[in-house]
Amino acid sequence: MPPHKRGEGQWALGYREPLNKNEETKKNDDPLNVGRRIVEIYSKTGFDSIDPADLRGRFRWYGLYTQRKPGIDGGKTGSIPEEELDDRYFMMRVRIDGRQLSAAQLRVLADISVKYARNTADITDRQNIQYHWIAIEDVPAIWDALESVGLTTMEACGDSPRAFLNCPLAGIAEDEILDATPQADEIRERYIGSKEFSNLPRKFKTAISGCSSHCTVHEINDISFVGVVNEAGEVGYDLFVGGGLSTNPMFAKRLGVFVRPEQVHEVWKGVISVFRDYGYRRLRHRARIKFLISDWGAEKFRDVLQKEYLGYELPDGPPPAPPKAQRDHVGIHRQKDGNYYVGFAPRVGRVNGEKLNAIADLAERYGSGRTALTTEQKMIVLDVPQENTEALAEELEKHDLQVRPSVFRRQSMACTGIEYCKLAIVETKQRTMDLTDELEKRLPTFDRPLTINMNGCPNSCARVQVADIGLKGQLVVDEDGNQVEGYQIHLGGQLGETFGKKVRGLKTTSANLTDYVERVVRRYDEQRAEGETFAQWV
Ligand code: SF4
Repeated sequence: MPPHKRGEGQWALGYREPLNKNEETKKNDDPLNVGRRIVEIYSKTGFDSIDPADLRGRFRWYGLYTQRKPGIDGGKTGSIPEEELDDRYFMMRVRIDGRQLSAAQLRVLADISVKYARNTADITDRQNIQYHWIAIEDVPAIWDALESVGLTTMEACGDSPRAFLNCPLAGIAEDEILDATPQADEIRERYIGSKEFSNLPRKFKTAISGCSSHCTVHEINDISFVGVVNEAGEVGYDLFVGGGLSTNPMFAKRLGVFVRPEQVHEVWKGVISVFRDYGYRRLRHRARIKFLISDWGAEKFRDVLQKEYLGYELPDGPPPAPPKAQRDHVGIHRQKDGNYYVGFAPRVGRVNGEKLNAIADLAERYGSGRTALTTEQKMIVLDVPQENTEALAEELEKHDLQVRPSVFRRQSMACTGIEYCKLAIVETKQRTMDLTDELEKRLPTFDRPLTINMNGCPNSCARVQVADIGLKGQLVVDEDGNQVEGYQIHLGGQLGETFGKKVRGLKTTSANLTDYVERVVRRYDEQRAEGETFAQWV
């Protein structure tokens, strides 16, 4: 892209003048100030009293988005003003930050769903809990309940340091490289809610983990600390910067440094500061840190980080070892203390308050009460003595929470879609559930690893470009020439290796979706060589 006469809006180069509406909103009032207005004003004066700049801007810093008005079809997305798409209710995201949840925390999350969110709750691929149907009047009571168990919605969305990913088995897994919890806690306690980082050019996603299966998908986060062991046998982290999918997918670049655990908080602060100061603020679609590092390269980024922000050089370090196992932690596996963890698969992350309460009861009856959410919209009961594992699995199955799911249920994810999302063009959650149910019937013996992810629009909240079969929602033309819901197909994506091939014209209507996917999977099953993955075959 040629240089722009007003620059790219990089603060460090003196371009302080806000260059678009989002930048103006953030400059006019720090988004973190809206929390107080919600409690003291809007929750009392009601939806109609909310300043539009808060409603469609600053509310996000507290995990609140207006949800899509029911019944507006996908053809209207983008063509009618946002206020016409707005429902009078909110989607609310609670940041968990990859932490293990106590039974008390899970019950509070469950009770909020039942009491304030019409029994909705989705597990997102960033280990958040997402509710729908939240009324502004109820937000202070929800925040009080969350706060009573150490949870928050602060900076769950917005141009801010959003929820961190951490391995749900941190401190527990037999084969972990190190437990990243103390480092994740330290960053969270120091910087979440700090006005130093509440006005970033765009969202900033953090992953930190010592998981030997790389379950926190460091390849597609803005910043990732990945557990490694250096030549001297010390444990620490490799550092990756600038991964992200959306409409311009890029894998993160490895800086090749070795970060000691005690340095993590200052290195995180350095990287986010480089982004805040040098990030591109002129165009929203070029504002993620991936564009900066793509222009600079890893070497220059490391140089600026060390010279201008850290004031010292980081030593070179080794790259992470390849993942040891499938990344999802589903199934029954041993922990390092001799107990077991039991990972199970709700369909496309969809649970509800009643189920979450039932899971809390089961976790207490059969384990220590602790649970965790995965980065693939799944869940885990921790600390289960071996003799309890099968009984727990049976009880979970009664709630349709499968410990030994088919590959289709285990490896599918879907974003929020047209049911609630204002950017959506098509339905996603229910359609993916229907698709996987039908594939289970038609292909009952298929058991090769295969991911099927579905998005409701060109953004990539459910990672279509790194799925074996990625389905990106859009309007397509059917055999009769009508515009109908359908999907652009991406084939053979692999995390950190390659993005799925988008074959021009390879689309399907939603009505033909199941037949299409069945055909592809059958052909792969018939033609594949021994051990050949879907990505290699395609
Ligand atoms: Fe909404 Fe699109 Fe993200 Fe799905 S991918 S949740 S439709 S923005």
